[in-house]
Amino acid sequence: MLQIVVFTLFEGMFHGILEESMLKRAQDTGLVRVDFVNFRDFAQDKHRTVDDYPFGGGAGMVLKPDPLIKAVESLPVLQAHQQERRFMMSPQGVPFSQPMAEELATLDRLVLVCGHYEGFDERIRPFIGAEEVSIGDFVLTGGEIPAMAIMDAVIRLLPGTLGNAESHVDDSFSTGLLEYPQYTRPASYRGHEVPAVLLSGDHAKVDAWRRAHALYRTFMRRPDLLDDATLTEADHRLIERFRSGDFSMIEVRDGFEHDIPE
Ligand code: SAM
Repeated sequence: MLQIVVFTLFEGMFHGILEESMLKRAQDTGLVRVDFVNFRDFAQDKHRTVDDYPFGGGAGMVLKPDPLIKAVESLPVLQAHQQERRFMMSPQGVPFSQPMAEELATLDRLVLVCGHYEGFDERIRPFIGAEEVSIGDFVLTGGEIPAMAIMDAVIRLLPGTLGNAESHVDDSFSTGLLEYPQYTRPASYRGHEVPAVLLSGDHAKVDAWRRAHALYRTFMRRPDLLDDATLTEADHRLIERFRSGDFSMIEVRDGFEHDIPE
């Protein structure tokens, strides 16, 4: 079982996501346990202060070292074979990614520390042995939403969480590519048909169609991902054709939405 420990001043923000859908099921079936620590409980003055003015001046407040460090130090020591990673939510951290989520899903304990106000006193990080992680190049009010995003991305990968164990294998980024276009019933909607190959029952053809479309989507929308994706000779040949402007094998092209009749 994965244990996630969240250090936050605002535990209530997490209740919604943990009480619905897959995350609820994962807890109910014992795949994950989520614990919260309010580091205000570790503040020792009578006002239970967790923040203070920044040295050097400037706007906002900064999280003080002592309550947070003491809170993280209160974590039970793991057994020698158990694996843990600790992360502080920070817009200055390494970008969170699907490969990271896959790695974190194999841990015994994942520690997520949520900042607030103007962030953390710089001395906190080495004391708590944490890495900084960011969910994107934008600034949120606190680390709670980033921690929720990471938690969700990790929990859905725990074996047994998704109904169909295969269902995340083709997700965007899992293969190093964006996912191919998906369709469900009806096969015809307001004159727009599902590509015939997907209805053919020919699995080899469906796989080839999906691979070509995943490559096309990635080529058009996120060509940076192609540098790190694992590509076959056939994939490279297809990308060369895209580069030369040949998209004749691609049935579902970007810009489709502009064709929808009024
Ligand atoms: N002054 C900080 C800076 O410029 O780096 C930003 C502080 S932000 C208002 C407050 C807290 O929200 C941060 O300490 C962090 O925990 C969290 N946070 C905000 N944006 C984030 C992001 N993109 N990724 C991860 N955490 C973020």
